Amino acid sequence: MSNYSPLQRLKHPLFEQHQLNVKIKRDDLLHPIISGNKWRKLKYNIEQLKQENYRGILSFGGGYSNHIHALAYAGHYYGFKTLGIIRGEPHYANNATLSAAQKWGMQLIFVDRNSYRQRYDRNYLTELQQIYPEYFIVPEGGSNQLALPGVAEVCQELNSQTQYDTLLTPVGSAGTLSGLIIGDSNQHQILGIAVLKQAEHLIEQVKQLTCAANSHDNWQLLTQYHYGGYAKFSPQNLTDLKAFSELTGVPFEPIYSGKMILALLDLINKNAFEPGHRIVLLHTGGLQGLAGLREQNKIRADEWPLPPGLPAR
Ligand SMILES: *Cc1c(COP(=O)(O)O)cnc(C)c1O
Repeated sequence: MSNYSPLQRLKHPLFEQHQLNVKIKRDDLLHPIISGNKWRKLKYNIEQLKQENYRGILSFGGGYSNHIHALAYAGHYYGFKTLGIIRGEPHYANNATLSAAQKWGMQLIFVDRNSYRQRYDRNYLTELQQIYPEYFIVPEGGSNQLALPGVAEVCQELNSQTQYDTLLTPVGSAGTLSGLIIGDSNQHQILGIAVLKQAEHLIEQVKQLTCAANSHDNWQLLTQYHYGGYAKFSPQNLTDLKAFSELTGVPFEPIYSGKMILALLDLINKNAFEPGHRIVLLHTGGLQGLAGLREQNKIRADEWPLPPGLPAR
């Protein structure tokens, strides 16, 4: 699997007006199915699985999880078993994300919200490990310690591709931001855009994952750009994003990468960046999520084309 994504300059009237140099690291192009940060985060988890002789990976996610989708495909591709503990009802199994996951051999177990809430609980995890001794357990979003070296490789690639001042990434469970902090090692400013409400607790999560919070002070988590919460967005947000995609020729989805774009535009309008500032956006992928949003009628199919390469239904 390719592990080196292209970097592309973005043209936009607002960037010209503010004399900003904006580029995008196209991790959405790493692979047609396991795209973006989920592949980066899984890479060394898969190594671990092989080294420790587990037969598979067990992980957690919502009904449309990009992580679950990527994990299922990785299992199919590399030949290990996958088990997904999914928050929701069994009928979710027919949705675009989970039907693909099952096609790639993932076993799904549906749990209600209360059970799902235990996903970080030590006793619960011990119990799961006893029930599924052959499986290596990876947390929701794939954000564990082993996710960091894979994400850190983004920074090594960027250093060989360009010079820049600020790196932007969307933030969900904070594994990606943590990996970038480690990989960057205080060279650039890093801005994480939280895509969920009340994300302040993730600051602590980043400090824990990076274990070296004091020596890495070049990052910030911006928590005001959730636009109503996880997977929430307004018609205006969609209009703005579509316009941005049309001007730049780069596809986005409104749950993760799209919120990073909306945040960027707002920051620029508030003069957060000096003229001449060089910005790199990390396109974390996640475009498979568009299929689920179309299915739920949250976006219009004719306005939000699916990326090529997803399996037909
Ligand atoms: C999961 C995901 C994120 C968030 O990454 P975390 O490591 O969970 O913070 C960002 N973008 C996309 C497309 C994702 O699927």
